[in-house]
Amino acid sequence: MIEIKPFKNKVWLSSPTMHGDEIKYIEEAYKSNWMSTVGFNIDEIERIVCEKTGCKYAVALSSGTSALHLAIKLAGVKSGDKVFCSDMTFAATVNPIAYEKAIPVFIDTEYDTWNMDPVALEKAFQIYPEVRVVVIAHLYGTPGKIDEIKKICDKYHAIIVEDAAESFGASYKGKQTGTFGNFNCISFNGNKIITGSSGGMLLTDSKEAANKVRKWSTQSREDAPWYQHEEIGYNYRMSNVIAGVIRGQLPYLEEHIDAKKAIYERYKEGFKGLPVKMNPMDLNNSKPNYWLSCLIIDKDAMAKQVRGDNDYLYKKEPGKSSPQEILDALVNINAEGRPIWKPMHMQPIYRMNPFITRKGNGRAMSNAYIKEEVSDVSMDIFNRGLCLPSDNKMTKEEQDVIIEVIKRCFK
Ligand SMILES: *Cc1c(COP(=O)(O)O)cnc(C)c1O
Repeated sequence: MIEIKPFKNKVWLSSPTMHGDEIKYIEEAYKSNWMSTVGFNIDEIERIVCEKTGCKYAVALSSGTSALHLAIKLAGVKSGDKVFCSDMTFAATVNPIAYEKAIPVFIDTEYDTWNMDPVALEKAFQIYPEVRVVVIAHLYGTPGKIDEIKKICDKYHAIIVEDAAESFGASYKGKQTGTFGNFNCISFNGNKIITGSSGGMLLTDSKEAANKVRKWSTQSREDAPWYQHEEIGYNYRMSNVIAGVIRGQLPYLEEHIDAKKAIYERYKEGFKGLPVKMNPMDLNNSKPNYWLSCLIIDKDAMAKQVRGDNDYLYKKEPGKSSPQEILDALVNINAEGRPIWKPMHMQPIYRMNPFITRKGNGRAMSNAYIKEEVSDVSMDIFNRGLCLPSDNKMTKEEQDVIIEVIKRCFK
């Protein structure tokens, strides 16, 4: 019998894990007075990330979001343009499109990897053939259907911006994510697979693009004796101190992935016999980085739940449960779970934006939600799924307790 009582120390969803070298490189920056957005740590991590991913150029920036913003600018997105993008993702995937006053058009999700559905993407091109840019994210560290998406993008002469913020270290058919699009982003935010506390990078094979990003991210200074500007600039470059943290973390990327993978496997094993599935992955074609472990409750084992922005209700039903009941049970033992990313088409800020499913205009179908005939995939996964505590410092014993608590939700 596993004893259930709250953990003394909170078990986090995903928190930073330091190893010691980070402080050495921070100190190097400090002692040499390279406390700036120039310095050896920055040069080193750009070199190492190129070597690791196989991309030709990497530019260290202040965040993954700033990398995505400059990627959108590189892609030539202009005010009023429509841009196709993943729907079930973190808002940072799509906000940079709005920064440029363009219009995100959300593409529904598929069930095989929980990423952009190529069938819905094809449909979207039939409806909006003028679109030239597609932003794809690899959710929770699982690569999406890259070949299928690339094929469609080639057919419609669209370029890809890849948001590999969650999937650094994951690969698809032997190639690292962050190298499939024309302009790509990774993130070193505090809860990612490795971290700088913050930070991100733009990855590209185009020298011209990399140079533009170096210029734009440092206020777009022209070659002149004074501060001369011909383009709008940004203060987006990474600090050499942050780069020191990342430099210390990079050698531990594989170790972190192994730990996350072990967590995923233990959940999978522990949930045998329960009416749930883990977040799906295509292991024939891809090697995920297992950043977050998630589960989805089988349709016929879903107890009734109603969720509003500020409160929720759920029913206790024998043999069934709901994400909200499980999230509450996790809170009770001092562990952190999280709902699945609320799809962008369901966000108040983007409620007027087009949303395309396999069947076409998904907005028309969203009305069916009121009649409880959920018909888009994003919404279905959001309703039935949740993210589990996936911290790589969680002990096996703590995870056993978490698994037991979830089992009891289905009693
Ligand atoms: C974390 C994240 C980002 C943004 O990265 P920051 O470094 O936090 O700006 C972008 N997209 C996705 C999918 C993310 O998870």
